[in-house]
Amino acid sequence: MSCSLVGDQHCALSCGGQAARNASAISTGDSLYVKLQGVEQVPSVVVWEATQACDMKCVQCRVNSRPHRHPLELSTAEAFHLIDQVAKMKVPLLALTGGDPLKRADLLPIVQYAARNGVPSALTASTTPLLVRQTVFDLKQSGLGTMAIGLDGSTPQLHDSFRGAQGSYKRTQDAISWCQEANLPVQINTTLTRRNLDDLDDLIELLIQKKIASWNVFFLVPTARVQVGELLTADQHEAVFAKLYETSKRVNFEIKTTEGQHYARFVAQQKAKGTKAPAKELYDGRSLVFVSHTGEVYPSGFLPLPAGNILWEPLAEIYQYSPVFRSLRDSSQLKGKCGRCEFRDVCGGSRARAYAMTNDPLAEEPRCAYTPA
Ligand code: SF4
Repeated sequence: MSCSLVGDQHCALSCGGQAARNASAISTGDSLYVKLQGVEQVPSVVVWEATQACDMKCVQCRVNSRPHRHPLELSTAEAFHLIDQVAKMKVPLLALTGGDPLKRADLLPIVQYAARNGVPSALTASTTPLLVRQTVFDLKQSGLGTMAIGLDGSTPQLHDSFRGAQGSYKRTQDAISWCQEANLPVQINTTLTRRNLDDLDDLIELLIQKKIASWNVFFLVPTARVQVGELLTADQHEAVFAKLYETSKRVNFEIKTTEGQHYARFVAQQKAKGTKAPAKELYDGRSLVFVSHTGEVYPSGFLPLPAGNILWEPLAEIYQYSPVFRSLRDSSQLKGKCGRCEFRDVCGGSRARAYAMTNDPLAEEPRCAYTPA
């Protein structure tokens, strides 16, 4: 049987994981307990791409969104089935993303179902005319825990040029106000490219004025609409890490990174110098699971290596046993300088960026300035 990852050479198991299933899984009632050394029992977050439909045309869009929903998107019942599995695994967070989840007419019942089943939820909404004040209050009432909103520049000109829609900046400011009125915590998502790098200081000052709960900084991965030339260089990544670290010590919102795993290495280096600031990073296939609009499971929305489908297999089994996830959890398989780096277990680099730029998910992080000791 050939490995579904990228060829047998990367696969720790030539059996599709069955040996590990037999040896290590103990099924007790509804729960699946797994005893595999070094394997996290549950991811920190399951990100569900509720739809790829969206009325915006953002330049950094991961999915090359389109206005209409895909006919094979998970139905309401299938979405409930996904939530049941997330609840059973006791995953701390279900993050609904898109596209624009507001394009789904059943969004409120889905959020309500998650709340009823004890699954904390967050939602990334596009700031289109679909996002109105009443919707924010309805989502809060339905049990939504956090609203994530994109803001890529401190000025209307810069932000709107990213979003491909005039007036998006104004709608973003309105949405933040409505969330605060509804007592719904706000996370700001910012994608950093060479186009908005010089605006970073002004953006941070703007965020400080807003009473946000968290700021998630996305580091580019080349995807449908993103060219390699827009990525920051390794040195620019390093300079941004220094700025995030300094900012984290003087603001009262949490700073997270997406596809910036080496920020964890930067923070670990600072801690070694005796200073402290938390690094909140999600690792492709380790602490993060991505479920597509049709139920396919991936290690990240930016890493298109399918590991299974929640319609045919339990999510817990895909996470624990699929060769894709197992391989990404095994830092000894990393190549190049990531493979010999003393930080490979706290960092490991962006597997999505490595795959996008080299076609090998285990290759060294293409945008890291660090030279391993
Ligand atoms: S070399 Fe790789 S593992 Fe080491 S800090 Fe850089 S990205 Fe992380």
